[in-house]
Amino acid sequence: MIANTETGSDIPSKEAQYILQSYARAPFVLVEGKGMEVTASDGKTYLDFTSGIAVNALGHSDPELVEGIQQQAAQLSHVSNLFHTAPQVELAEMLCESSFADRVFFCNSGSEANEAAIKFARKYATTTHFPGKTDIVAFGGGFHGRTAGALAATAREKYQAPFRPLMPGVHFAPFNDLEAAAQLIGPQTCAVIVEPVQGEGGVHVATKEFLHGLRDLCDRHNALLIFDEIQCGLGRTGKLWAYQQYGVEPDLMTLAKALGGGLPMAATLMTEPVASVIHPGDHGSTFAAGPVASRAAQIVFQRVSDPAMLAHVNEMGTLLAEQIAELNSPHIREIRGLGLIIGVEMDSEVAPLVEKGYEHGVMLLSAGPTVLRLLPPLIVEEEHITQLINVLRTLLQG
Ligand SMILES: *Cc1c(COP(=O)(O)O)cnc(C)c1O
Repeated sequence: MIANTETGSDIPSKEAQYILQSYARAPFVLVEGKGMEVTASDGKTYLDFTSGIAVNALGHSDPELVEGIQQQAAQLSHVSNLFHTAPQVELAEMLCESSFADRVFFCNSGSEANEAAIKFARKYATTTHFPGKTDIVAFGGGFHGRTAGALAATAREKYQAPFRPLMPGVHFAPFNDLEAAAQLIGPQTCAVIVEPVQGEGGVHVATKEFLHGLRDLCDRHNALLIFDEIQCGLGRTGKLWAYQQYGVEPDLMTLAKALGGGLPMAATLMTEPVASVIHPGDHGSTFAAGPVASRAAQIVFQRVSDPAMLAHVNEMGTLLAEQIAELNSPHIREIRGLGLIIGVEMDSEVAPLVEKGYEHGVMLLSAGPTVLRLLPPLIVEEEHITQLINVLRTLLQG
């Protein structure tokens, strides 16, 4: 594909005119991607350490993924969930056979997967236990999405304030504070929702004691434990599922981001007891797990669950974290993370660093005001890490 400079230069001004201004976008137009790199309409290339926010696990335009999508789109692309189609069933089998789960509900985004988890948990608790068992416990710094229910479980004043009143019954404890959680989890609790590794909140890794403690509290009070692995699942931490780092199994788990290989695809995984309370008509989605998105997800799943890929994630994650530490920058306060989800806590705002990164041809993410977040495609190699480190060294000196 030849980048069209004429069209490219038009896009930001037309975006400002026609698109709802709910995003702060970088000032260039991306037209092409291959592996670790994307190209803008002016021909400039960028090394991608964002993966489209933890989506492009296989990098850009992976040949196997492109072929699978093209082939499936040509064969059958949409019929709705009124009919059986093979790709979604095969995908569900892969997800269940590789995890704690017995059944899957498919949807299209992370927020939707959490909405589904909340609804299933409420129905389970109110029908299996008692009608008032509807409270949800979530955590400070957690992010579960922007739809009404998911937003109610996202403890960020800035996101919640304009949209109150929110879904009632959600209570927040500080992350990794088991004692505070114990104060909130009781007979009235239907579910506890937590990210094993918080992404948007600044890359905070749950402690073993915290997740084990939440499991015990949930068991004691007949509450369901929901792991939001939308960002940290599917190989990102160096294990297929982040919960496998802890030896703690949830009752429900939500997936999205990397699952569809760039197509909208999400899933709520659950145990049979939870599944048994849901009947036809209780929940649904027109688009969910269409043949094309399901075929894409099968390819992503097969690739990221390969032990060689998981070993690669661990190796590259260790290398990346070590090389950041070796920068020895006085501006770096802390380096956190697991596998290839890495947060670098800085001594000041990181937005200028992200902007300067563009000038040097690298794409970086923030996670809150002072955390630089690195989420490269899982196919990242040592040469890309070296390139990034060279840019970071320059930026941190400047
Ligand atoms: C991105 C994200 C969501 C929301 O996903 P959307 O697809 O944007 O709705 C929920 N939870 C976590 C942990 C996420 O990272």
